[in-house]
Amino acid sequence: MTGAARFEVVVPPPADGSTRARVGRLTLPHGEVETPTFMPVGTNATVKALHPDDLVEVGAQIILANTYHLYLRPGHERIERLGGLHRFMGWDGPILTDSGGFQVVSLADLRVVDDEGVTFRSHLDGSLHRFTPEYAVEVQMALGADVAVAFDQPVPPHSSSRVTVRDAAERTHRWAERSLAAHTRPDQALFGIVQGGLEPDLRAESTRRIASLPFDGICIGGLAGDETPAERAAALDVAVPLLAGDGRVRYLMGLGSPLDLLEAVHRGMDLFDSVMPARVARNGQLWVPGGRINIRNERYRDDPRPVQEDCACLLCRRFSRAYLAHLFRAEELLAYRLATCHNLTFTLDFMTGIRAALRAGTFPEGLPALRSRAARPITRAAAVQPA
Ligand SMILES: [Zn+2]
Repeated sequence: MTGAARFEVVVPPPADGSTRARVGRLTLPHGEVETPTFMPVGTNATVKALHPDDLVEVGAQIILANTYHLYLRPGHERIERLGGLHRFMGWDGPILTDSGGFQVVSLADLRVVDDEGVTFRSHLDGSLHRFTPEYAVEVQMALGADVAVAFDQPVPPHSSSRVTVRDAAERTHRWAERSLAAHTRPDQALFGIVQGGLEPDLRAESTRRIASLPFDGICIGGLAGDETPAERAAALDVAVPLLAGDGRVRYLMGLGSPLDLLEAVHRGMDLFDSVMPARVARNGQLWVPGGRINIRNERYRDDPRPVQEDCACLLCRRFSRAYLAHLFRAEELLAYRLATCHNLTFTLDFMTGIRAALRAGTFPEGLPALRSRAARPITRAAAVQPA
């Protein structure tokens, strides 16, 4: 372990086994993070449409930046020359960079995976690139986030064969050891990634293997993809109990809807990230307790109320639904900033509420109320149905 991350469980799960949820404190070089919490995603070293002061305002304690995107543009060496990622993007709080594995597999045009690494074409200009575990770590050391992540091979959980899942998990384990050996930056933590898809024995084996290595934190990867919530819950019910005596922070990669976050916290996860709250905001979907508002709907053009009465965000404390509806119709840039501030505030306030319930010891009995408060993001099925 690097010693750059220290994790303490502040409120352990209750002894009656009613939940595995816990409150923790993750101490990183650029600050402390109270868990469970959600990390807004700044793909290109910016959370789209937001100023870093807006991130403080919405309650972000830590943000995520994408290794793959920053490697391609503007280049990790340029960011290093300019003083590292924190200085470059004007954010002095904790940052985590992902390994690039997910983007290489899901975004790059061509990709050839072998035991040494992955060769891929840039989605920007078609140029040819290669990531190995060593190189993904080198790129992340140059970027200089508080937390780097080992290079892995994720596969879509639901639609991959057992052989594909097994091979990807075994490769991920070999790459985890190589990532650890390559990482030499003492002021940066390194997290490892568990794979293993939805196969209980493969998920369990991957959890044991990754947990046996001296990472500073444990990521659960290969979920938040095409699996159902029940399949995700089952995979977590395999992995998390194996980490019961493990003192490290647990991060479920790629999950973003409030209800999904709640269920994963209940199963013992501490950290989350997703582009979802910001992406749906830019499409005019505003999350509110128990539902969502499509601000492009005609009925909001004359609505003088705030988007959410009890929300203290930049949007709700000053502007009406009618004004936001106007901004979206006029394609004014302020629309994206205000809507993003609201959805991230909603998400982070929701996590604050979860932590408060855990502190008060009321989380298990408060679960139904939290479930009904969780916003309902638009689903693929709902998206094609008339409103
Ligand atoms: Zn708001």
